[in-house]
Amino acid sequence: MSHVHFSIDPEAIMKHVRYLAEDIGPRLAGSENEQKGADYIEAQMKAIGLQNVEQQHFNCRWYDVNTARMDAKFGEEWQSVTMDAVAHSPSTDGVLEAELVYVETAKPEILERLDLKGKVALVHGTYGANSSQLKMLAEKEIAAVIWTDVRYTPPWNLLVGLPFTFQHLLTFPAASVPHPVEWELVRQGVDRVRLELDTVVETRTSQNVVGELPGKNSHGGVLISGHHDSVRGCSGAEDNAAGVGVALAIADAMKDVDLEKGIKFVSFGTEEQLSQGSFAFVDEEKNNATDTELVLNVDGQGCWAGENEIFVTGSAELHEYMYDEPDGFSDHFPFIAKGVPAGWFHRRNCAGGRWFHHSIHDNVDALSPQVLASCAGLVAGIAHDVCTNGELPFEREFSDETRAAVKAVADGWLKP
Ligand SMILES: [Zn+2]
Repeated sequence: MSHVHFSIDPEAIMKHVRYLAEDIGPRLAGSENEQKGADYIEAQMKAIGLQNVEQQHFNCRWYDVNTARMDAKFGEEWQSVTMDAVAHSPSTDGVLEAELVYVETAKPEILERLDLKGKVALVHGTYGANSSQLKMLAEKEIAAVIWTDVRYTPPWNLLVGLPFTFQHLLTFPAASVPHPVEWELVRQGVDRVRLELDTVVETRTSQNVVGELPGKNSHGGVLISGHHDSVRGCSGAEDNAAGVGVALAIADAMKDVDLEKGIKFVSFGTEEQLSQGSFAFVDEEKNNATDTELVLNVDGQGCWAGENEIFVTGSAELHEYMYDEPDGFSDHFPFIAKGVPAGWFHRRNCAGGRWFHHSIHDNVDALSPQVLASCAGLVAGIAHDVCTNGELPFEREFSDETRAAVKAVADGWLKP
């Protein structure tokens, strides 16, 4: 592929990242801070001169945690352990003291033979790629569940959350512990815990922020996206103020280009509940999402040491055109579920993804401005190529194989 090379100033990206991650801070879906982030992005889009700038609102589930603590009985001694509430967990009724049962990965064949009524289940991993574990735990009438996000094994808390399609199935209190805590609970044969969760869950409003650089032709074109929400208690610099910063810097760098086809820029809300904002966007008729010829989504980009990856979903030609990598999961997914080709620009530094992901360590220091600038240059070049040429440089239709692979993922996540 030969794209025009756009040279993008790292500082043009970082000023947005710092504002979102440091001046505003954590931007949990449905919170005032998420709205502040959206207002900032809207103002920036207008200042750049994008057209049809607006916020599109939708309902989401906001939550907060007043109390989250757990004591475990090591031998004869009760000790508090590092833990957190799972997003949208119901409260316990005061302090819940119960038997702790290690259920490993909580596969159906493991849960089947266990009596878990009134007990706390400790799971190696989280709820899995579909709703079957959640349903089974509820049927077992467990008192609570404790999950571990084993993609990473640091000693600090990782925020575990559920997709918006599964949240109604979380009818029992749920907490998460870091893997080293799971390890010690199992190694020392802990069989009793006291868990206290005091949480609130409310329906609130989230928002997508949309703006465009129009082309001569009102059909087709590219959509460049990031998301402005973050997980709770995390400044979300890399996940994903960086993606928003990249999108805004590209918009600014391309504002004077003569475009045949338009470029839409979208900052999604509520990505952290499995792309609820992006689903709302593709479902909104006036957005005409399926007219888009290519989605370029930047999420989880910019870490210092690591390797770039592009998850490409589309035709064989698109893979070749962009880079050859398998499928993935972020705000491009609602588009590919509707047959719109997409690339997700990501950068990993460990097998599980990024060592600081969804923790307090996701801050501005985790980001390399230069890495972000080169990602922005690449995305801008692809958008330029697609939107200044009459002919699409790749076959737009998915192969049957790709369509089936996308459907398999959608069936797991979206059919509670
Ligand atoms: Zn993200």
